[in-house]
Amino acid sequence: MQYKDGRELKMKRVSNKQTGLIFFPAFDWAISPTHPEREERLLYTRDQIFEEGIMDLPQIIEFAPKLATVHDVARVHFCVPRVKDQTTEAHLIAAGAAILLAEQIVAGNILNGFALVRPPGHHAMRVVHGNRGFCNINNEAIMIEKLRSRYGINRIAVVDTDVHHGDGTQDIFWHDPDVLFISFHQDGRTLYPGTGFTYELGGPKAFARTINIPLPPGTTDESLMYVVDNLIVPVLKDFKPDFIVNSAGQDNHYTDPLGSMRITAQGYARLTEKLKPDIAVLEGGYAIETALPYVNMAIILALAGLDYSEVREPDYWPGRFKESPERKAQVQRLVEELLKYWEMRDKASPDPKSVNGRFYQRKRRIFYDTDYIEEIQFESLKLCDDCPGYLSIDSTANHGYGRTGKVLCLSVPFKACSVCRAEAAETYERSKKDRDYQYVYLQDKAADTFLGYEVSTGQEWFSNG
Ligand SMILES: [Zn+2]
Ligand SMILES: [Zn+2]
Repeated sequence: MQYKDGRELKMKRVSNKQTGLIFFPAFDWAISPTHPEREERLLYTRDQIFEEGIMDLPQIIEFAPKLATVHDVARVHFCVPRVKDQTTEAHLIAAGAAILLAEQIVAGNILNGFALVRPPGHHAMRVVHGNRGFCNINNEAIMIEKLRSRYGINRIAVVDTDVHHGDGTQDIFWHDPDVLFISFHQDGRTLYPGTGFTYELGGPKAFARTINIPLPPGTTDESLMYVVDNLIVPVLKDFKPDFIVNSAGQDNHYTDPLGSMRITAQGYARLTEKLKPDIAVLEGGYAIETALPYVNMAIILALAGLDYSEVREPDYWPGRFKESPERKAQVQRLVEELLKYWEMRDKASPDPKSVNGRFYQRKRRIFYDTDYIEEIQFESLKLCDDCPGYLSIDSTANHGYGRTGKVLCLSVPFKACSVCRAEAAETYERSKKDRDYQYVYLQDKAADTFLGYEVSTGQEWFSNG
């Protein structure tokens, strides 16, 4: 590229047709030195991309990451006791990188983006007592709630393409009718975290805004494309999201040591081309040398609208994986079942067994595999005719060694009515006097404020971004 006077253009300029990338390997964050979730996951990709000259293409632009704020985290999570206790600088940079790229996309400066960051985030739920599935905070959810809070973006779709069910993202948006969460993954009967079944469809105010596609182990590109063409793309078309997020886990790859799927780099590229996400955020993927460099490069090329047909793993040959007739039939039945639920999305009403007066209630048990914490939640959603209702979560965490913690978390949604907001605020004030709780929290997304209170000391903290 040259200027009119013949000088070489040294700096690539930001153009609204470019794909933005951020690499953040997080050298100073690891669960343990030999853990599969380690910085080499990104280093091999980086080498491959530089080697292939991808970074010199005019269609690609790299950004330096920035930090998410504590308030960005508090808008989504109830970190116990505080955000700083559950996050390191690496976590804030991973979430901040996703935010930065999303803001560039919303501003129209770039076409789309891929945040190649770690630590990952999709197993982090709304309440955070510790690390689950290598995740403390949910990078995509933090980015999404920032976009909705600051830029008035309303409808968002998340497509989680990691081999593990995106249970954290599902939990955060379970009651939100404006966020569609679609996850395909290896069947939870055969893989962590053991959830993500077709009957998990979202709360009573957001029925079928959660769609889970549990695929049989060994699923190949062929069945995956069937799911994309016949379920995911048609549902996205109906939902008409303003913004599409891809939680891009590369552990469906046939060489991944944690999963048992048969997806190739070409499969991931075609998937990306069909989904057309505004932003992809890296999740899992642990075949550091044999999958990540190829899958990530294929995704980058597909996002940038470049030819990806030559991206091939060294040990792959066309026709290596054949779909079995049984799996094919099983996947077709899955798609049929889920399309039926999607058709019912505005007609479903809550199961009467879960309704207590004006509240929808459920009890949940959450296990933190990394930190060995057992959490019991009593969740209660106000069934309001005028808004999605506020949520209250009574959460007890058992850390072992006799250490337990009981907290109350109140969350007011963006579109809350004035009655629900007032009711949540009253409950917060009343619960501050309840010695059963160690901490009480009020997160008001509509006002973009956050309050925390330590019952034993009477100390209160406030954040408004
Ligand atoms: Zn994963
Ligand atoms: Zn209301």
